[in-house]
Amino acid sequence: KSKNAGRNCFNVYSPELKAEADQRNILEIELREAIWREEIEVFYQPVFELGTGHVKSVEALARWRHRTRGLIPPAEFIPVAEESGLIVELGNLVLAKACRHAVMMPDDIKVAVNLSALQFTGGNLVDSVMLALMDSGLAETRLELEITESVFLADSQDNLKTLERLKRLGVSIALDDFGVGYSSLSYLTAFPFNKVKIDKSFIDRIGRSETVAVLGSIVQLAKTLNLSIVAEGVETFEQVEKIRSLGIALGQGNFFSEPVPLGELLLQGFADSERQAVA
Ligand code: C2E
Ligand code: MG
Ligand code: MG
Ligand code: MG
Repeated sequence: KSKNAGRNCFNVYSPELKAEADQRNILEIELREAIWREEIEVFYQPVFELGTGHVKSVEALARWRHRTRGLIPPAEFIPVAEESGLIVELGNLVLAKACRHAVMMPDDIKVAVNLSALQFTGGNLVDSVMLALMDSGLAETRLELEITESVFLADSQDNLKTLERLKRLGVSIALDDFGVGYSSLSYLTAFPFNKVKIDKSFIDRIGRSETVAVLGSIVQLAKTLNLSIVAEGVETFEQVEKIRSLGIALGQGNFFSEPVPLGELLLQGFADSERQAVA
């Protein structure tokens, strides 16, 4: 023992940490198995045009149907998938399922799939996207890929080339969780995105005048760049009104609809939302 090793010192061999590491390893083993057995389900959350209430697209969101623990949300397994590299296989599975599901939806509905930065470096992303499209017969114009700033952080030159190849396939590219990073504005001009999704944290603070000012300039920039804008995580009618008055055309959030399983989405029938603000 070193002379500094007191009772508050970090001990790598503590039983608590060992238990945590064991749990994490079990989760990884179970996740690998679940991907293999295709026990990763895809839920869909619609994106609404605020002026008309029409559904314009649906976002594919992964859910793990665990044998004993029930439905596990992404917050619990996406970090494990990222750390272990399983996110590449998981991402390909979600992509393939979402494309197969999308052909069951009306032609004017796009399907959006989230991509991890690791899919740009750890797999053959362009091939996977082409395969998913060919396998399902989905028109490339109906697929949207959501990326975050993290894609620009590592291997940014190679990733940018991959992003350009993806766009040339005819799919659209959206920048997700916009505003939570450090240099968001510069990334907005680093690539010709089709869409930008304003992070929920902004929508949560939309009651403040500073937030309104920041969002106002983002809307201006997006219009200059010819980008469509989505407000994420809309929960209240007050937020809908503010978003609309700022000129943001699209909204997604539990106020309109939570993510739902495919069956429920198809039954719901892509009906217009009655919850948009009155023009
Ligand atoms: P995201 O892509 O930003 O997706 C939006 C998240 O916000 C979803 O959480 C959605 O359920 C939640 N959300 C939407 N509206 C509301 C609202 O009004 N209130 C609240 N409190 N939450 C709302 P979810 O499904 O738990 O997914 C969390 C994150 O996990 C996603 O954030 C995405 O980054 C990641 N993720 C999910 N599926 C995949 C996937 O297939 N691949 C990858 N790479 N990441 C995924
Ligand atoms: Mg997303
Ligand atoms: Mg987001
Ligand atoms: Mg997010």
